[in-house]
Amino acid sequence: MTILDVQDLKAYYSTLKGDVKAVDDVRLQMDRGEALGLVGESGCGKTTLALAIMRLLPWNGRIVEGKIRLDGVDIVELDENTFDKDYRWKRMSYIFQGAMNALNPVFKVGDQIAEAITIHEDVEKKEAIERARELFSLVGVDPDRVTSYPHELSGGMKQRAMIAMALACNPDFIIADEPTTALDVIVQAQTLQVINDLRNKFGLTMMLITHDLSVVAQTCTTCAIMYAGNIMEYSDIETIFKNPAHPYTKALTSAFPSIKEDRRELKSIAGVPPNLLNPPKGCRFHPRCPNRMDICTKEKPEYTELSENHLAACHLLTKEA
Ligand code: SF4
Repeated sequence: MTILDVQDLKAYYSTLKGDVKAVDDVRLQMDRGEALGLVGESGCGKTTLALAIMRLLPWNGRIVEGKIRLDGVDIVELDENTFDKDYRWKRMSYIFQGAMNALNPVFKVGDQIAEAITIHEDVEKKEAIERARELFSLVGVDPDRVTSYPHELSGGMKQRAMIAMALACNPDFIIADEPTTALDVIVQAQTLQVINDLRNKFGLTMMLITHDLSVVAQTCTTCAIMYAGNIMEYSDIETIFKNPAHPYTKALTSAFPSIKEDRRELKSIAGVPPNLLNPPKGCRFHPRCPNRMDICTKEKPEYTELSENHLAACHLLTKEA
């Protein structure tokens, strides 16, 4: 059953030089309970897509057109009060990149979690603090640490506190934006395990944003490959790794080490992502694509359905090419 349905979404940033087309005609659907890895190089629009879904774009960002339906309700059309009261943090929540910057340094972490609860639910602060303690237990942090300030917690504990905060109002859809980037590999593995366990325990639907395919392989059931503001390929995890169809996905997976093929040469992707002030015409990957054809510079490829739940946008996959 579909929980999130993004249709033809455009989210742009206004700059003195013009609009940066960070998200352009994105279509994406997620089923309830799905764990989707949203993967791509830095600057490809992953975070912008997530912030657009949460309606948290910065002051110069805006949703230009498109629909974002959560359980059938187009949340783009909701007034800010309704969205803030009934959706943001309550139905859908966000684990921000870099817990150090996301937590307020001058308030105790428990108070910050309790505030999120009291704003959205009719409970007293005492009850909200008790919930914060339970949430700390759930994410594997000593409940007594709710009285700590952020600087008194380690990086891993802060990230777990962020996860606890995201769960504070029992959402059923969570976006985790690079939740382990700043952590060492051991703490990263522990944090991913916490996220996995909670997702299974509560049947959460999760969008995990990362540039690290190994994180997706460990944590997700499906994967969407994003490049220059477009979704290039979507499939289940196994297909993405074993049978990628899009040249960009193939390039990404070839740049990723395999523990089974210890002598495999890692290939970098030539060139750099395009400037989204003036993205390339046709397929946005064409300046870097080893399979580029004449049509690729002129026409944007449509999605081809390769099998159930496997879509890719590439002219190589269409009969006419
Ligand atoms: Fe390469 Fe053309 Fe396919 Fe784009 S549409 S990925 S340029 S072959």
